[in-house]
Amino acid sequence: MEKIVALCKRRGFIFPASEIYGGIANTYDYGHHGVLLKNNVIAQWWKAMIQERDDIVALDSAIIQHPRTWEASGHLEGFTDPLVDCRSCKLRFRADHIEEERAGDGHPEVRCGRAPSKLPGDYPECDLTEARAFNLMFETTIGPVKDAASTVYLRPETAQGIFLDFKTTLQWARRKPPFGIAQVGKSFRNEITPGNFIFRTLEFEQMEMEFFVPPDEVDSWHEYWLQERMDWYERLGLDRERLRLRPHGPEELSHYSNATSDIEYLYPIGWSELEGIANRGDFDLTQHAKYSGEKLEYVDTATQERYVPHVIEPAGGVGRTMLALLCDGYDEEEVEGRQRTVLRLHPQLAPVKVAVLPLVNRDGMPELAREIYEDLRGSVPAEYDDGGSIGRRYRRQDEIGTPWGVTVDGQTLDDRTVTLRDRDTLEQIRLPIDELGDELGRRLANPWRSPKLAA
Ligand code: ATP
Repeated sequence: MEKIVALCKRRGFIFPASEIYGGIANTYDYGHHGVLLKNNVIAQWWKAMIQERDDIVALDSAIIQHPRTWEASGHLEGFTDPLVDCRSCKLRFRADHIEEERAGDGHPEVRCGRAPSKLPGDYPECDLTEARAFNLMFETTIGPVKDAASTVYLRPETAQGIFLDFKTTLQWARRKPPFGIAQVGKSFRNEITPGNFIFRTLEFEQMEMEFFVPPDEVDSWHEYWLQERMDWYERLGLDRERLRLRPHGPEELSHYSNATSDIEYLYPIGWSELEGIANRGDFDLTQHAKYSGEKLEYVDTATQERYVPHVIEPAGGVGRTMLALLCDGYDEEEVEGRQRTVLRLHPQLAPVKVAVLPLVNRDGMPELAREIYEDLRGSVPAEYDDGGSIGRRYRRQDEIGTPWGVTVDGQTLDDRTVTLRDRDTLEQIRLPIDELGDELGRRLANPWRSPKLAA
């Protein structure tokens, strides 16, 4: 994990927020390459949810909703973690995490503050308080007067916005169950578990889809979405061996869930949740109907049959997907006696697809390289770099996961051919400048499998 964290900072992917003030707990900023990678992850999600299907529509609902939302959804009452403080080391833990680790189920996020090899409670100095319920929602106020009536919450999940808009969406979208509403956006949770980089942050982007189905079809749709979502992560290039499905035990289920399975990834901290896929039953629509007085149901105009749809929810996190991609893609190898660090990202996810580099900074090479770059960037994300030795520039591109590099050298000036280097195989071919665009397009469209896995 330290290597990933260092690379992310060095190459402008992700770094601690508010760093000049000493940072702020569990909060990170995304730099240039982090933003590009994040956008690509989200684009792949939309592609799978919207572009490749016709039974899901998109939504972007507000972060701050009417406060009754969270009464109805049960979050005000039940969205709590059992917190334990250690009076000795001053760290705070989740009692459920300690119990899981103690029972041998493995919860990698818990460590004793003074002796990290031990669990909180096991070191002689440990002095733990009783567990107490701690609500994870961030509160704020709206309006000119600060009183109880003006208290609102930053959403802890994007899902509720979807339930609030169920009726409106049903009216305009001309869909009938089974159909889904998808959204990507920030959620906020007052998490107390420190460390582990972007695995657990106070604000994070979720990719959530609520799939509304006739009640008697809910189990088969749950199975369907478990499979679909596993396949999606595999298509992003993640190692199938480092992905697994884990059904929740009855004591683990959220207050709204009838059944949940997590897709877990083998992060450097151990197997941990990447995405949860829950059967939420009719809990949310029924609750919001009760609290709002609106009828939230589906009426079949032909048969007059009416029912409250049940819901399957695949809920993933952008940050956790990025962390999995970074861990999976990170590789070190020795090439001709030199150590090389390379991020083997799926080309479609790579922040930059092609780097255009003049071999040296003279004889007209930079000018021609720049011309090629300006031509290519209209169709693929490209970078031009003429700073430092060619070796250093390739090392930089390898570390940000750029799949292809174009070098303009002396021969280019004579015959207008360039070399095209492949990040994974290090193979270089020579081809005319005019064929570059087509060649890159062809390579981008090709299926990709990490050479780490092939090996
Ligand atoms: P955990 O058990 O790890 O706290 P959760 O079960 O509470 O997670 P869900 O409510 O199912 O998480 O949220 C769906 C997804 O949102 C998670 O699978 C994860 O990818 C992401 N997510 C949830 N909380 C966080 C967080 N604090 N930081 C980053 N991502 C998060």
